[in-house]
Amino acid sequence: MSDSCPQPISPPGKWPDRYTRQMLFTPVGEEGQRRLSSAHVLLVGCGALGSVIANLLTRAGVGHLRIVDRDVLDATNLHRQVLFDEADLAADLPKAEAARRKLVAINSDVHIEAVVADANPENIRELAEGADLLLDGTDNFETRYLLNDLAVATSRPWIYGACVGATGLSLVVLPGETPCLRCIFEEAPPPEATGTCDTVGILGPTPSLVASHQALEAMKILIGRLDAVDRRLWSFDAWANHWSRVDVGKARQPGDCPCCVGRRFEYLEGRHATRTITLCGRNAVQIFPRRTGHIDFAQLADRLRPVARAEPRCNGFVFKALIENYELTLFADGRALIRGTNRAEEAKAVYARYIGA
Ligand SMILES: [Zn+2]
Repeated sequence: MSDSCPQPISPPGKWPDRYTRQMLFTPVGEEGQRRLSSAHVLLVGCGALGSVIANLLTRAGVGHLRIVDRDVLDATNLHRQVLFDEADLAADLPKAEAARRKLVAINSDVHIEAVVADANPENIRELAEGADLLLDGTDNFETRYLLNDLAVATSRPWIYGACVGATGLSLVVLPGETPCLRCIFEEAPPPEATGTCDTVGILGPTPSLVASHQALEAMKILIGRLDAVDRRLWSFDAWANHWSRVDVGKARQPGDCPCCVGRRFEYLEGRHATRTITLCGRNAVQIFPRRTGHIDFAQLADRLRPVARAEPRCNGFVFKALIENYELTLFADGRALIRGTNRAEEAKAVYARYIGA
């Protein structure tokens, strides 16, 4: 064996050879690897961010990875959701299960659990049971605020990630020590103000950048190296070559944040949860999202025009757009009617993809 290919630092059999290069990195070492292998992680959302996070943490040898996702794979996911392939698409697999099948083939040492469900106030505590760390692979603020509430309420770290186009954000939240998500973004942006991957597009490398940052910070936390954790808001526009780390240390002011200062866990209590009603016989689901303020229909029409099957229509009361096999009807108070499905999870996913937040 050459000098450039050293012996495993642990006796054969103690650790699989697969981790030797990771353990050679001094801050990890054998102790760090041991900690990783006993760690339990909850990953909510297994799309573009989640599939990269799950891939990296499985290869790194975390002990237990629970993956929660409500969605089924579609062809438009494949350019960026790196765990999935055409066979998964042909099999109509839910993303969580397709991910599990890939991940157990990558590393059979890791206990991978796939949960095909919508993470919500009713089930999030159970989903997070035993988890040392919560990871955000979602596409909506409602679930992120739910994770934020749970993390702060139970003093567990979590890592936020978001991306669209060529831009991305990542933030580690260490409850009691660093600002929480609501310290920085107290309310979700109005739906017409921000695009989603399904309206303004996304480049494949963008989520890989964000998720790699999330996975790296996750490893620091799981091996107990909090001193190395990035406490700033990591932000970039990779197309414009702009990268920044924003100091958010002063985002939390006394009496300022309803969550980590006021300790009001409104999302965990379900006060802001999106409610749905399936309209029997009409192949439609009515959605009552958490929404404040007026929705700018004209701005929303501009955003949805490129992906709609026909020109979106709106008046002062109602907005309509035909997208994929759905008809989206949106009322000025934020209430929505999604025609084309009887499934609440599917309707919520469509709402998150095209309306946002
Ligand atoms: Zn806060």
